Amino acid sequence: MGATVAFLGLGKMGVAMAKNLAAAGYSMRVWNRTRGKGAEIQGALELPTAAEAAQGAEFVVTMLADDAAVESVVLGKGGALESMREGAVHVGCSTISVALAHRLAEQHAARGRRYVSAPVFGRPDAAAARQLTVVPGGDRETVERCWPLFLALGQAGTALPLPEHANLVKLIGNFFIASMIEMMGEGLALAEKGGLDPAVVMDIINATRMSSPILKGYGAQVASTRFEPAGFALPLGLKDVGLALEAGRALRVPLPFASLLRDHFLASLSKGRESWDWSGIAALARENAGLSARRPST
Ligand code: NAP
Repeated sequence: MGATVAFLGLGKMGVAMAKNLAAAGYSMRVWNRTRGKGAEIQGALELPTAAEAAQGAEFVVTMLADDAAVESVVLGKGGALESMREGAVHVGCSTISVALAHRLAEQHAARGRRYVSAPVFGRPDAAAARQLTVVPGGDRETVERCWPLFLALGQAGTALPLPEHANLVKLIGNFFIASMIEMMGEGLALAEKGGLDPAVVMDIINATRMSSPILKGYGAQVASTRFEPAGFALPLGLKDVGLALEAGRALRVPLPFASLLRDHFLASLSKGRESWDWSGIAALARENAGLSARRPST
């Protein structure tokens, strides 16, 4: 048996990631707010609280929805930090704010624990296929300790010395993807009104040097208007663009395009699209063009 990992947060991403860590030989102690998910991870021990799960583990991985969840599960009363053993590493994989990542690093250091930010690129299918790209941020020695764990999840990119810088990179990356979704939504609405088949347009574009996994994957989704089931839910998209704007405010960087995206996420949610994938913001561009939110055949 390898090192012990406490895995906190068994949502769409967390379940797939925990399964891969178990398959890589880590001894798994798992916790989720809604109990029972641990049964999906072979050989894992499911504990009733995050603090109990974290007890004795060498690594404590969090894959929780947002800042509020990470704050309460790790730093809150009876949270994981209280029970983590000395020298244990908290590996923060959730997409959280730059400010919270900085605070986590400080709080862990003050108690003789370590913190590494390890946000990931890739959706649940990539997580299941062990194809996530981890962006590590933290001191060199701790990041090196975590490296085999990152490889059990997929691959790891350039390590950054400051944890919060890894989170900033993740937020910038998601800002890029959301911008590309918006661009495809508007462009393909134009295509459809012009009498073109959006799927054919994407095929043509993807045969040029513009082609990329994002233009292929999300392009197919936007072209088909298949927005459910969500791989990355629309409310999480709003969270991430909000976190990018928050970082921009702190650093005095205007992000006019992110402001527009935030409003498109909000407008989509005002239409009751909570369960849609974040690519569903493309439906707004369709509606603004007088098209139905989804193509009739979808
Ligand atoms: P998800 O399926 O909605 O899972 C969210 C997890 O957080 C669940 O385990 C949920 O517990 C837990 N949670 C939510 N609020 C909580 C609270 N207040 N206290 C304790 N636990 C709480 O989300 P996901 O798609 O796995 O995403 C998880 C994180 O990964 C997010 O930060 C997201 O931005 C990031 N991410 C997602 C993707 C993606 O494509 N999905 C890709 C990269 C990064 P319950 O089961 O009890 O609800």
